[in-house]
Amino acid sequence: MVEERLSFRTLNKEVIEPGICAACYGCVSFCTANELNVLTVEKDRPVYCDEKNCLEDGICYLICPRTPHLDKALETKFQYKDPIGSYISVRILRTTDEEIAQVCCDGGVVTSLLQFMLDTKKIDGAVLSKREGLWNSEPVITTRFEDLLECAGSSLVQSRSVRNLGDWTTYAPIFAALKKLNLLDLAKFAVVGTPCQISTIRKMQLLHIVPSHLVRFTVGLFCFENFRMNDEGKKYLQQRIGADLGEIQKVNLKDDFIIRLKDGKVVHVDLDDLGPIVRSECLACTDFSNYAADISVGGLGSPDGYTTVLVRNHEAQRLINQAISQGYIEETPQHDAVEKIKKMAERKRARGERVLRERKAKYSPA
Ligand SMILES: Cc1cc2nc3c(=O)[nH]c(=O)nc-3n(C[C@H](O)[C@H](O)[C@H](O)COP(=O)(O)OP(=O)(O)OC[C@H]3O[C@@H](n4cnc5c(N)ncnc54)[C@H](O)[C@@H]3O)c2cc1C
Repeated sequence: MVEERLSFRTLNKEVIEPGICAACYGCVSFCTANELNVLTVEKDRPVYCDEKNCLEDGICYLICPRTPHLDKALETKFQYKDPIGSYISVRILRTTDEEIAQVCCDGGVVTSLLQFMLDTKKIDGAVLSKREGLWNSEPVITTRFEDLLECAGSSLVQSRSVRNLGDWTTYAPIFAALKKLNLLDLAKFAVVGTPCQISTIRKMQLLHIVPSHLVRFTVGLFCFENFRMNDEGKKYLQQRIGADLGEIQKVNLKDDFIIRLKDGKVVHVDLDDLGPIVRSECLACTDFSNYAADISVGGLGSPDGYTTVLVRNHEAQRLINQAISQGYIEETPQHDAVEKIKKMAERKRARGERVLRERKAKYSPA
């Protein structure tokens, strides 16, 4: 039997049609035939707009976080160990900056560390996500502290953006910004991303795809799932919290969904009960801890107001020690963070493997 040549057609058949596309849009942004307008995004899905110009070189397929071809190579490169990958330390940290503490998600460590890296010229800029307008998180390239601050805590709703909750998505397609990196006269960037986004960047680096060589530091967010809010979702969440959505002050994710209301009440919702607001495609993801990043971060395992940081290599460890000694962030001893992260990672992997099996079986030719 002649093997099918890898192309967007294969990606469509194996990933997009079965409903497991992570919607990172790496395939669209880094299509080799980009100038020929081969791929575009329609209704959140990558699609062919001009199939006859497809070069069929398989790049879109290979860099996709949901295709298996480079997974083993990535696992080997980053010495993956079940269930949360390799790490050299777990640290519970928070920012020392009042301004960052006001707007960040958890401990503001991501923003403070990026500020430290910019101040000390370890990076020239960062690719981040910022809430924009009613429906979107916009990918942005930041080079200044003011911009970092604008992006802090943008993922899940903070009080300053609560008015937009009704039109809310947590997904930020950062590759549109990443694509522009090599047009700038800057050489070293950090990227903050979810596991699917970091996986695409790492696959691009394995294949030496420009401009992934400019990404020198990756901050991986823990991620159980992403959300998309439609009318049904709004109604559901309103019922679940027993209050109008306008009463929400802040939303966060650890090992459950935590909603703080303006009257001080805190509602916890089990992640298994978030059905109508979860991006269905995210159910097929198996990576919670973002194992291929330089550091992985989340609120899970930390007291309120701190960020849990899995430090995955010695360079990252040095960076954090320097940021602490120069007063950007501070540390408290960790207790049971690792066990909690492992438990979530196992829960996500079991769900992801089951959903992948089911969806692939449904879409495979008999
Ligand atoms: C979709 C999503 C799901 C998550 N799920 C979990 C979870 O299940 N358990 C858990 O413990 N933690 C989870 N996190 C991580 C957690 O919410 C915090 O982002 C993390 O603890 C860092 O907090 P911080 O205060 O140090 O970051 P901050 O200093 O507030 O900085 C946050 C950074 O994240 C970037 N960012 C925000 N949203 C996105 C996005 N959608 N895509 C890419 N980058 C983004 C911002 O640009 C900013 O630089 C999730 C984050 C996201 C975006």
